[in-house]
Amino acid sequence: MSISKNGFLTPAQLNKIKEILLAERESIENKDHDTSSYCLDKNELSDVLDEANINIQATKELRFRNRELFYLKKLNKSLDRIKRGTYGLCEDCDGPIGIERLMARPTAELCIHCKEESELSEKNNFFQNKSKSLGQTISDLNCRSQRPNF
Ligand SMILES: [Zn+2]
Repeated sequence: MSISKNGFLTPAQLNKIKEILLAERESIENKDHDTSSYCLDKNELSDVLDEANINIQATKELRFRNRELFYLKKLNKSLDRIKRGTYGLCEDCDGPIGIERLMARPTAELCIHCKEESELSEKNNFFQNKSKSLGQTISDLNCRSQRPNF
């Protein structure tokens, strides 16, 4: 696979990425989520501690699912962008994201420069918000750290 000179994707590269996106989507959709272990009979709960543990597990599972759903949305969005012919273009500056970045992160929506900038401003926002509302910022931060690394 060669990189086109202007950074835009060749049809072959686009096809390859489409295959990756479709495979990713399929693997998520076909995943069998077994949550039955979290639905124990009340009698099986020996004490409050067990119940708390089960709640933690259920919360983890839920978070994991949310992450998957989030990723699924991104996959669908990327596939939609391929259809519309806007895939591989940065949402911020409209410049090409680049095949290397897209192969590593097929759902990338920003080029590396805009991504770095947005991460920087996210950090700045965090410090600004911190003094205003600590609790809210911490829950916000938790959400962010749970974000899938795609
Ligand atoms: Zn950009």
